[in-house]
Amino acid sequence: MAARAWRLRALAATLAIVFKRGHWWENDAMDVHILGSINVDTILSVDALPTAGETVLAAQVTRLPGGKGANQAVAAARMGARVTMTGAVGADADGDWMRAVLKGEEVDVRGIATLAGVPTGAAMIAVDAAGENQIIVAPGANALLAPETAPKPGLILAQLEIPLDTIASAFAASAGPRLLNAAPFIPAACALFAHTDLLIVNQHELAGYADVPAISGPAEAIAAARALRAHPQQQIVVTLGGQGAVAVFGDAAIHAPALSVTPRDTVGAGDCFCGAMAALIAEEMDLAAVLPLANAAAALCTQTVGAIPAMPARAAVMAALAG
Ligand code: ADP
Repeated sequence: MAARAWRLRALAATLAIVFKRGHWWENDAMDVHILGSINVDTILSVDALPTAGETVLAAQVTRLPGGKGANQAVAAARMGARVTMTGAVGADADGDWMRAVLKGEEVDVRGIATLAGVPTGAAMIAVDAAGENQIIVAPGANALLAPETAPKPGLILAQLEIPLDTIASAFAASAGPRLLNAAPFIPAACALFAHTDLLIVNQHELAGYADVPAISGPAEAIAAARALRAHPQQQIVVTLGGQGAVAVFGDAAIHAPALSVTPRDTVGAGDCFCGAMAALIAEEMDLAAVLPLANAAAALCTQTVGAIPAMPARAAVMAALAG
């Protein structure tokens, strides 16, 4: 019953935008600037993960575009936002490929630097028959993304697969809302929180930053998020997997349950949630309306293998909510 009320509210909010401003891609929404990582993911399917010193053969090798920054850029673009990407790749075929992938999604790629003498970021992901994985990330060019200080109008969304200094200087220069997806968990990232307007974390990251053993549900997430707030105006959103997401802002706290689905592959669900959120906040939609839509987008993302290929279009998100 509560889930249905949230969905109706989100639908009404989007319809109001379409009705008032025409199509969402022609409206006066803010630009979404993604500051983040760009990787090529190599997925190796193995019967059993190797132990130390062991060599195993992969039955299948798949290469997919990835990196939290690139994933979130595509999620926001497919949600209808005007997206620019700031990142770094090497002067190599992987870098060319990633630039082309993002351009194909209508992401403005002029802010992607091509760095000589360093490879494009790469993630090697071994997945066994039971779906367990081992991941090794070689950050490559991502680790050398230089601070940028030119202020950009619009909203900025960063994650933690690039140098923290680079994020700090971009946030300091930003004229618009600063969104931080503090993932993966990096304790030193706490220094950025005081300069963050909206912090997005999953329940495990929240437990890490809040220094509590675990967060198991909405009530615990709300309490920990309230305690973590770096300043009174800060908004915090916590994703809870199949339990949806919560938000704390001002004196309010809300829980939006997840869309009910049977997940096929949860890779990229968190990135989908963040990218979709950024697109909707750029339309000045309030958090109570944003959360169900971001949940629906992320739930749809779990229905398709991979991250970027799984990011849903806005029409599909609206259809899922209406159904
Ligand atoms: P991460 O991918 O960072 O671990 P979560 O597991 O919290 O993040 O998932 C992010 C979002 O994806 C959730 O808030 C929810 O909207 C959606 N999601 C994840 N797992 C499920 C699921 N089993 N059913 C429905 N939605 C899900």
